Amino acid sequence: MRKVEDQSIGILGGGQLALLLSQAAARLGFRPEIFAGASTLPSLRSFLANLKLVIFENEFVDCDLLQQASQGFSVQFLPSLETIRTLQDKLSQKNRLRDLGIPTSPFREIFLGGDLSKELSQIAREFGGNFVLKWAKFGYDGKGVLVLGDLSETSLSYARAFVAKAQAQNSRVYAEKFVPFKRELAMVGSFSVRGEFAFYPLVESEQLKGVCKWVYNFDADSRTTEKVSHWLKSFAQNTKLYGSFAFEFFELTDGELSVNEIAPRVHNTGHYSIEGAQTSQFENHWRAVLGESLGETQVKASFVMMNLLGPEGIDGVLDLALIPHPPEPVQMHLYGKRESRPGRKLGHCTVVSEVAHAQADLKKKLAQFDAKWLNHIQSHLIKGP
Ligand code: ADP
Repeated sequence: MRKVEDQSIGILGGGQLALLLSQAAARLGFRPEIFAGASTLPSLRSFLANLKLVIFENEFVDCDLLQQASQGFSVQFLPSLETIRTLQDKLSQKNRLRDLGIPTSPFREIFLGGDLSKELSQIAREFGGNFVLKWAKFGYDGKGVLVLGDLSETSLSYARAFVAKAQAQNSRVYAEKFVPFKRELAMVGSFSVRGEFAFYPLVESEQLKGVCKWVYNFDADSRTTEKVSHWLKSFAQNTKLYGSFAFEFFELTDGELSVNEIAPRVHNTGHYSIEGAQTSQFENHWRAVLGESLGETQVKASFVMMNLLGPEGIDGVLDLALIPHPPEPVQMHLYGKRESRPGRKLGHCTVVSEVAHAQADLKKKLAQFDAKWLNHIQSHLIKGP
Protein backbone atom coordinates (compact mmCIF):
# COMPACT_ATOMS: atom_id res chain seq x y z
CA MET A 1 0.00 0.00 0.00
CA ARG A 2 1.10 3.54 -0.76
CA LYS A 3 2.32 5.31 2.35
CA VAL A 4 -0.14 7.98 3.37
CA GLU A 5 1.63 11.02 4.70
CA ASP A 6 -0.22 14.01 6.01
CA GLN A 7 -0.59 16.82 3.51
CA SER A 8 0.46 14.70 0.56
CA ILE A 9 -2.99 13.92 -0.82
CA GLY A 10 -5.33 16.44 -2.42
CA ILE A 11 -8.89 16.72 -3.68
CA LEU A 12 -9.71 18.97 -6.63
CA GLY A 13 -13.05 20.63 -5.94
CA GLY A 14 -14.59 21.93 -2.74
CA GLY A 15 -18.22 20.85 -2.75
CA GLN A 16 -20.11 18.27 -0.70
CA LEU A 17 -18.34 15.34 -2.33
CA ALA A 18 -14.97 16.71 -1.15
CA LEU A 19 -16.45 17.13 2.33
CA LEU A 20 -17.76 13.55 2.45
CA LEU A 21 -14.46 12.23 1.02
CA SER A 22 -12.56 14.16 3.70
CA GLN A 23 -14.74 12.69 6.44
CA ALA A 24 -13.95 9.20 5.14
CA ALA A 25 -10.25 10.11 4.99
CA ALA A 26 -10.35 11.26 8.61
CA ARG A 27 -11.74 7.87 9.62
CA LEU A 28 -8.86 6.27 7.72
CA GLY A 29 -6.40 8.49 9.57
CA PHE A 30 -5.38 11.23 7.14
CA ARG A 31 -6.41 14.72 6.13
CA PRO A 32 -6.44 15.60 2.44
CA GLU A 33 -5.76 19.10 1.14
CA ILE A 34 -8.75 20.58 -0.67
CA PHE A 35 -8.56 22.88 -3.69
CA ALA A 36 -11.68 25.00 -3.75
CA GLY A 37 -10.42 28.25 -5.26
CA ALA A 38 -10.35 29.65 -8.78
CA SER A 39 -8.20 27.55 -11.10
CA THR A 40 -5.28 29.65 -12.26
CA LEU A 41 -1.81 28.41 -13.14
CA PRO A 42 -0.19 29.90 -9.98
CA SER A 43 -2.97 28.73 -7.62
CA LEU A 44 -2.87 25.19 -9.02
CA ARG A 45 0.92 25.07 -8.95
CA SER A 46 1.04 26.04 -5.31
CA PHE A 47 -1.63 23.42 -4.52
CA LEU A 48 0.10 20.64 -6.46
CA ALA A 49 3.67 21.43 -5.41
CA ASN A 50 3.76 19.26 -2.28
CA LEU A 51 1.24 16.62 -3.19
CA LYS A 52 1.85 13.03 -4.21
CA LEU A 53 -1.69 12.09 -5.16
CA VAL A 54 -4.68 14.11 -6.32
CA ILE A 55 -8.26 12.88 -6.78
CA PHE A 56 -11.31 14.61 -8.25
CA GLU A 57 -14.63 15.41 -6.60
CA ASN A 58 -15.78 16.96 -9.85
CA GLU A 59 -14.81 16.13 -13.43
CA PHE A 60 -15.30 19.65 -14.79
CA VAL A 61 -11.64 20.55 -14.60
CA ASP A 62 -9.35 22.06 -17.19
CA CYS A 63 -7.10 19.09 -18.00
CA ASP A 64 -4.66 21.15 -20.13
CA LEU A 65 -4.19 23.63 -17.31
CA LEU A 66 -3.70 20.84 -14.76
CA GLN A 67 -1.17 19.17 -17.04
CA GLN A 68 0.74 22.42 -17.30
CA ALA A 69 0.44 23.18 -13.59
CA SER A 70 1.86 19.79 -12.62
CA GLN A 71 4.98 20.09 -14.81
CA GLY A 72 8.11 19.30 -12.82
CA PHE A 73 6.19 17.92 -9.82
CA SER A 74 5.85 14.27 -8.88
CA VAL A 75 2.10 14.43 -8.31
CA GLN A 76 -0.12 11.68 -9.71
CA PHE A 77 -3.75 12.26 -10.69
CA LEU A 78 -6.17 9.37 -10.16
CA PRO A 79 -8.01 8.75 -12.38
CA SER A 80 -5.41 10.12 -14.84
CA LEU A 81 -6.01 13.39 -16.67
CA GLU A 82 -6.42 11.35 -19.85
CA THR A 83 -9.28 9.37 -18.28
CA ILE A 84 -10.90 12.51 -16.88
CA ARG A 85 -10.60 14.20 -20.28
CA THR A 86 -12.55 11.36 -21.88
CA LEU A 87 -15.19 11.03 -19.18
CA GLN A 88 -15.84 14.74 -18.60
CA ASP A 89 -17.32 14.74 -22.10
CA LYS A 90 -20.60 12.82 -22.34
CA LEU A 91 -20.25 12.42 -26.08
CA SER A 92 -16.91 10.64 -25.56
CA GLN A 93 -18.57 8.56 -22.82
CA LYS A 94 -21.28 7.50 -25.27
CA ASN A 95 -18.67 6.56 -27.88
CA ARG A 96 -16.82 4.42 -25.32
CA LEU A 97 -20.05 2.74 -24.25
CA ARG A 98 -20.89 1.97 -27.87
CA ASP A 99 -17.37 0.60 -28.52
CA LEU A 100 -17.71 -1.69 -25.50
CA GLY A 101 -21.15 -2.93 -26.55
CA ILE A 102 -22.84 -1.45 -23.46
CA PRO A 103 -26.41 -0.34 -24.30
CA THR A 104 -27.05 3.40 -24.50
CA SER A 105 -29.64 5.34 -26.49
CA PRO A 106 -28.88 6.34 -30.12
CA PHE A 107 -27.00 9.64 -30.35
CA ARG A 108 -25.03 11.85 -32.65
CA GLU A 109 -23.15 15.12 -32.48
CA ILE A 110 -24.93 18.24 -33.74
CA PHE A 111 -23.21 20.18 -36.48
CA LEU A 112 -23.16 23.76 -35.19
CA GLY A 113 -21.69 25.49 -38.21
CA GLY A 114 -24.85 25.69 -40.32
CA ASP A 115 -28.61 26.14 -40.11
CA LEU A 116 -29.68 24.70 -36.75
CA SER A 117 -33.29 24.32 -37.81
CA LYS A 118 -32.30 22.12 -40.79
CA GLU A 119 -29.90 20.09 -38.66
CA LEU A 120 -32.60 19.42 -36.05
CA SER A 121 -35.17 18.43 -38.68
CA GLN A 122 -32.61 16.02 -40.10
CA ILE A 123 -32.05 14.54 -36.62
CA ALA A 124 -35.80 14.18 -36.03
CA ARG A 125 -35.94 12.14 -39.27
CA GLU A 126 -32.90 10.04 -38.32
CA PHE A 127 -34.20 9.25 -34.83
CA GLY A 128 -37.78 8.92 -35.98
CA GLY A 129 -39.28 10.75 -33.04
CA ASN A 130 -38.61 12.99 -30.06
CA PHE A 131 -35.08 13.67 -29.01
CA VAL A 132 -33.09 15.38 -26.32
CA LEU A 133 -30.27 17.89 -26.82
CA LYS A 134 -27.33 17.68 -24.43
CA TRP A 135 -24.19 19.63 -23.76
CA ALA A 136 -21.25 17.26 -24.00
CA LYS A 137 -19.59 19.05 -21.06
CA PHE A 138 -20.57 20.96 -17.91
CA GLY A 139 -24.12 19.64 -17.56
CA TYR A 140 -25.37 18.68 -14.10
CA ASP A 141 -28.66 18.44 -12.21
CA GLY A 142 -30.66 18.74 -15.42
CA LYS A 143 -28.74 21.81 -16.63
CA GLY A 144 -27.38 20.97 -20.06
CA VAL A 145 -30.40 18.87 -21.11
CA LEU A 146 -33.19 20.11 -23.40
CA VAL A 147 -36.07 17.83 -24.35
CA LEU A 148 -37.45 18.75 -27.78
CA GLY A 149 -41.00 17.58 -28.37
CA ASP A 150 -41.43 19.44 -31.64
CA LEU A 151 -39.57 21.86 -33.87
CA SER A 152 -41.87 24.87 -33.51
CA GLU A 153 -40.41 28.41 -33.52
CA THR A 154 -40.57 28.45 -29.71
CA SER A 155 -38.68 25.15 -29.42
CA LEU A 156 -36.12 26.36 -31.94
CA SER A 157 -35.50 29.54 -29.97
CA TYR A 158 -34.89 27.42 -26.84
CA ALA A 159 -32.56 25.21 -28.87
CA ARG A 160 -30.64 28.23 -30.17
CA ALA A 161 -30.14 29.64 -26.66
CA PHE A 162 -29.14 26.16 -25.43
CA VAL A 163 -26.55 25.78 -28.19
CA ALA A 164 -25.19 29.30 -27.63
CA LYS A 165 -24.60 28.52 -23.93
CA ALA A 166 -22.72 25.35 -24.84
CA GLN A 167 -20.58 27.18 -27.37
CA ALA A 168 -19.75 29.88 -24.82
CA GLN A 169 -18.35 27.09 -22.62
CA ASN A 170 -16.56 25.42 -25.50
CA SER A 171 -18.72 22.33 -25.29
CA ARG A 172 -19.98 20.23 -28.15
CA VAL A 173 -23.72 19.49 -28.34
CA TYR A 174 -25.28 16.17 -29.21
CA ALA A 175 -28.73 14.78 -29.79
CA GLU A 176 -29.96 11.63 -28.13
CA LYS A 177 -33.12 9.69 -28.83
CA PHE A 178 -35.83 10.32 -26.23
CA VAL A 179 -36.12 7.28 -23.95
CA PRO A 180 -39.63 6.60 -22.62
CA PHE A 181 -38.22 5.15 -19.41
CA LYS A 182 -40.12 3.48 -16.58
CA ARG A 183 -37.73 4.59 -13.87
CA GLU A 184 -34.14 5.67 -13.32
CA LEU A 185 -31.63 3.33 -11.71
CA ALA A 186 -27.98 3.64 -10.73
CA MET A 187 -25.08 1.50 -9.62
CA VAL A 188 -21.84 2.55 -7.91
CA GLY A 189 -18.67 0.54 -8.44
CA SER A 190 -15.12 0.86 -7.13
CA PHE A 191 -12.07 -0.12 -9.17
CA SER A 192 -8.67 -0.17 -7.51
CA VAL A 193 -5.18 0.43 -8.85
CA ARG A 194 -4.56 -3.20 -7.85
CA GLY A 195 -7.22 -4.24 -10.34
CA GLU A 196 -9.81 -5.18 -7.70
CA PHE A 197 -13.44 -4.38 -8.44
CA ALA A 198 -16.40 -4.13 -6.07
CA PHE A 199 -19.95 -2.97 -6.69
CA TYR A 200 -22.92 -1.76 -4.69
CA PRO A 201 -26.50 -2.80 -5.44
CA LEU A 202 -28.68 -1.31 -8.13
CA VAL A 203 -30.75 1.49 -6.63
CA GLU A 204 -33.68 3.51 -7.86
CA SER A 205 -33.46 7.29 -7.98
CA GLU A 206 -36.25 9.83 -8.26
CA GLN A 207 -35.63 13.36 -9.46
CA LEU A 208 -37.45 16.56 -8.66
CA LYS A 209 -37.15 19.11 -11.49
CA GLY A 210 -34.03 17.34 -12.76
CA VAL A 211 -32.41 17.10 -9.32
CA CYS A 212 -32.06 13.82 -7.43
CA LYS A 213 -34.44 13.75 -4.46
CA TRP A 214 -34.69 10.08 -3.44
CA VAL A 215 -32.48 7.00 -3.66
CA TYR A 216 -33.50 3.57 -2.35
CA ASN A 217 -32.88 -0.11 -2.89
CA PHE A 218 -35.30 -2.62 -4.33
CA ASP A 219 -35.33 -6.32 -5.20
CA ALA A 220 -33.25 -6.24 -8.34
CA ASP A 221 -33.07 -9.61 -10.03
CA SER A 222 -29.67 -11.20 -9.74
CA ARG A 223 -29.22 -11.66 -13.49
CA THR A 224 -29.64 -7.92 -14.08
CA THR A 225 -27.28 -7.08 -11.23
CA GLU A 226 -24.68 -9.46 -12.61
CA LYS A 227 -24.97 -8.07 -16.13
CA VAL A 228 -24.80 -4.46 -14.99
CA SER A 229 -21.87 -4.99 -12.62
CA HIS A 230 -20.03 -6.59 -15.50
CA TRP A 231 -20.59 -3.46 -17.61
CA LEU A 232 -19.15 -1.31 -14.83
CA LYS A 233 -16.14 -3.54 -14.42
CA SER A 234 -15.30 -3.73 -18.10
CA PHE A 235 -15.79 0.02 -18.51
CA ALA A 236 -13.53 0.76 -15.53
CA GLN A 237 -10.84 -1.60 -16.81
CA ASN A 238 -11.05 -0.19 -20.32
CA THR A 239 -10.85 3.48 -19.29
CA LYS A 240 -8.62 2.98 -16.18
CA LEU A 241 -11.37 4.53 -14.11
CA TYR A 242 -9.87 4.18 -10.62
CA GLY A 243 -11.86 4.96 -7.48
CA SER A 244 -15.62 4.86 -6.91
CA PHE A 245 -17.80 5.86 -9.83
CA ALA A 246 -21.45 5.58 -10.89
CA PHE A 247 -23.49 4.51 -13.88
CA GLU A 248 -26.97 6.01 -14.27
CA PHE A 249 -29.52 3.98 -16.20
CA PHE A 250 -32.92 4.26 -17.74
CA GLU A 251 -35.07 1.19 -17.16
CA LEU A 252 -37.16 0.64 -20.25
CA THR A 253 -40.70 -0.70 -20.26
CA ASP A 254 -39.45 -4.20 -21.16
CA GLY A 255 -37.14 -4.17 -18.12
CA GLU A 256 -33.94 -3.70 -20.15
CA LEU A 257 -31.44 -1.07 -19.00
CA SER A 258 -29.81 1.66 -21.09
CA VAL A 259 -26.92 3.74 -19.73
CA ASN A 260 -27.78 7.42 -19.40
CA GLU A 261 -24.45 8.70 -18.13
CA ILE A 262 -21.35 7.93 -16.09
CA ALA A 263 -19.97 9.92 -13.17
CA PRO A 264 -16.22 9.26 -12.89
CA ARG A 265 -16.21 9.87 -9.11
CA VAL A 266 -18.24 9.28 -5.98
CA HIS A 267 -21.89 9.99 -6.66
CA ASN A 268 -25.08 11.17 -4.98
CA THR A 269 -26.77 7.80 -5.60
CA GLY A 270 -24.10 6.21 -3.36
CA HIS A 271 -24.46 8.52 -0.33
CA TYR A 272 -26.64 5.96 1.45
CA SER A 273 -23.53 3.75 1.69
CA ILE A 274 -22.20 5.79 4.65
CA GLU A 275 -24.84 4.18 6.90
CA GLY A 276 -26.22 1.56 4.55
CA ALA A 277 -23.15 -0.40 3.45
CA GLN A 278 -20.35 -2.12 5.28
CA THR A 279 -17.85 0.15 3.51
CA SER A 280 -18.97 3.48 2.07
CA GLN A 281 -18.32 4.54 -1.52
CA PHE A 282 -16.07 7.27 -0.05
CA GLU A 283 -13.89 4.88 1.91
CA ASN A 284 -13.67 2.56 -1.06
CA HIS A 285 -12.68 5.50 -3.24
CA TRP A 286 -9.63 6.06 -1.01
CA ARG A 287 -8.87 2.36 -0.72
CA ALA A 288 -9.02 2.07 -4.52
CA VAL A 289 -6.62 4.92 -5.28
CA LEU A 290 -4.27 4.11 -2.38
CA GLY A 291 -3.88 0.50 -3.50
CA GLU A 292 -5.48 -1.00 -0.39
CA SER A 293 -7.85 -3.91 -0.71
CA LEU A 294 -11.46 -2.79 -1.14
CA GLY A 295 -13.90 -3.04 1.74
CA GLU A 296 -17.03 -5.21 1.72
CA THR A 297 -20.03 -3.64 -0.03
CA GLN A 298 -22.72 -5.66 1.73
CA VAL A 299 -25.78 -3.46 2.40
CA LYS A 300 -28.64 -3.31 4.91
CA ALA A 301 -31.92 -4.98 3.93
CA SER A 302 -33.63 -1.61 3.31
CA PHE A 303 -32.32 1.91 2.93
CA VAL A 304 -33.57 5.27 1.69
CA MET A 305 -31.62 8.46 1.12
CA MET A 306 -33.28 11.84 0.67
CA ASN A 307 -31.56 15.02 -0.50
CA LEU A 308 -32.31 18.23 1.37
CA LEU A 309 -32.94 20.61 -1.54
CA GLY A 310 -33.16 24.39 -1.39
CA PRO A 311 -36.89 25.22 -1.48
CA GLU A 312 -38.64 27.14 -4.26
CA GLY A 313 -38.98 30.85 -3.75
CA ILE A 314 -35.90 31.17 -1.55
CA ASP A 315 -32.75 32.61 -2.99
CA GLY A 316 -30.55 33.76 -0.18
CA VAL A 317 -28.61 33.18 2.97
CA LEU A 318 -29.74 30.51 5.39
CA ASP A 319 -28.59 29.78 8.89
CA LEU A 320 -28.27 26.04 8.59
CA ALA A 321 -27.45 25.75 12.27
CA LEU A 322 -31.16 26.34 12.78
CA ILE A 323 -32.18 23.23 10.87
CA PRO A 324 -33.80 20.93 13.42
CA HIS A 325 -32.28 17.54 14.21
CA PRO A 326 -34.09 14.68 12.54
CA PRO A 327 -35.67 12.07 14.80
CA GLU A 328 -33.84 8.76 15.36
CA PRO A 329 -32.96 6.69 13.38
CA VAL A 330 -32.65 9.27 10.58
CA GLN A 331 -29.05 10.38 10.00
CA MET A 332 -28.50 13.88 8.60
CA HIS A 333 -25.46 15.23 6.75
CA LEU A 334 -25.35 18.99 6.17
CA TYR A 335 -22.87 20.41 3.69
CA GLY A 336 -22.26 23.77 5.36
CA LYS A 337 -23.66 25.82 2.48
CA ARG A 338 -24.89 29.22 3.59
CA GLU A 339 -26.73 30.16 0.44
CA SER A 340 -29.84 28.39 -0.70
CA ARG A 341 -31.18 28.37 -4.23
CA PRO A 342 -34.17 26.36 -5.46
CA GLY A 343 -33.05 22.76 -5.93
CA ARG A 344 -29.58 23.29 -4.48
CA LYS A 345 -28.28 20.28 -2.55
CA LEU A 346 -27.85 21.51 1.03
CA GLY A 347 -27.51 18.12 2.69
CA HIS A 348 -28.94 14.63 2.76
CA CYS A 349 -30.57 12.23 5.19
CA THR A 350 -30.37 8.47 5.27
CA VAL A 351 -32.39 5.89 7.13
CA VAL A 352 -31.67 2.18 7.07
CA SER A 353 -33.36 -0.95 8.40
CA GLU A 354 -32.48 -4.60 8.91
CA VAL A 355 -36.02 -5.42 7.81
CA ALA A 356 -36.58 -6.23 4.15
CA HIS A 357 -39.12 -4.22 2.11
CA ALA A 358 -39.23 -1.40 4.67
CA GLN A 359 -38.51 1.30 2.06
CA ALA A 360 -42.04 2.74 2.05
CA ASP A 361 -41.98 3.19 5.85
CA LEU A 362 -38.50 4.68 5.78
CA LYS A 363 -39.51 7.06 3.01
CA LYS A 364 -42.47 8.22 5.07
CA LYS A 365 -40.17 9.05 8.02
CA LEU A 366 -37.92 11.07 5.74
CA ALA A 367 -40.81 12.86 4.04
CA GLN A 368 -42.11 13.94 7.48
CA PHE A 369 -38.72 15.37 8.33
CA ASP A 370 -38.55 17.08 4.93
CA ALA A 371 -41.81 18.89 5.64
CA LYS A 372 -40.53 19.85 9.10
CA TRP A 373 -37.19 21.36 8.11
CA LEU A 374 -38.68 23.16 5.11
CA ASN A 375 -41.24 24.75 7.36
CA HIS A 376 -38.51 25.71 9.83
CA ILE A 377 -36.31 27.20 7.11
CA GLN A 378 -39.09 29.44 5.81
CA SER A 379 -39.40 31.06 9.22
CA HIS A 380 -35.65 31.51 9.77
CA LEU A 381 -34.65 32.86 6.40
CA ILE A 382 -32.16 35.69 6.44
CA LYS A 383 -33.15 37.82 3.47
CA GLY A 384 -30.96 38.63 0.51
CA PRO A 385 -28.16 36.81 -1.28
P1 ADP B 1 -27.74 15.60 -15.59
O1 ADP B 1 -26.33 15.12 -15.57
O2 ADP B 1 -27.86 17.07 -15.69
O3 ADP B 1 -28.57 15.00 -14.50
P2 ADP B 1 -28.99 13.76 -17.41
O4 ADP B 1 -28.40 13.31 -18.69
O5 ADP B 1 -29.01 12.76 -16.29
O6 ADP B 1 -28.31 15.11 -16.99
O7 ADP B 1 -30.48 14.22 -17.70
C1 ADP B 1 -31.32 14.83 -16.71
C2 ADP B 1 -32.70 14.25 -16.78
O8 ADP B 1 -33.27 14.44 -18.08
C3 ADP B 1 -32.69 12.73 -16.58
O9 ADP B 1 -32.72 12.44 -15.22
C4 ADP B 1 -33.96 12.32 -17.33
O10 ADP B 1 -35.08 12.48 -16.48
C5 ADP B 1 -34.02 13.30 -18.47
N1 ADP B 1 -33.39 12.72 -19.69
C6 ADP B 1 -32.09 12.77 -20.02
N2 ADP B 1 -31.86 12.10 -21.18
C7 ADP B 1 -33.05 11.62 -21.60
C8 ADP B 1 -33.48 10.83 -22.72
N3 ADP B 1 -32.62 10.44 -23.68
N4 ADP B 1 -34.78 10.52 -22.79
C9 ADP B 1 -35.67 10.92 -21.85
N5 ADP B 1 -35.33 11.66 -20.78
C10 ADP B 1 -34.04 12.00 -20.63
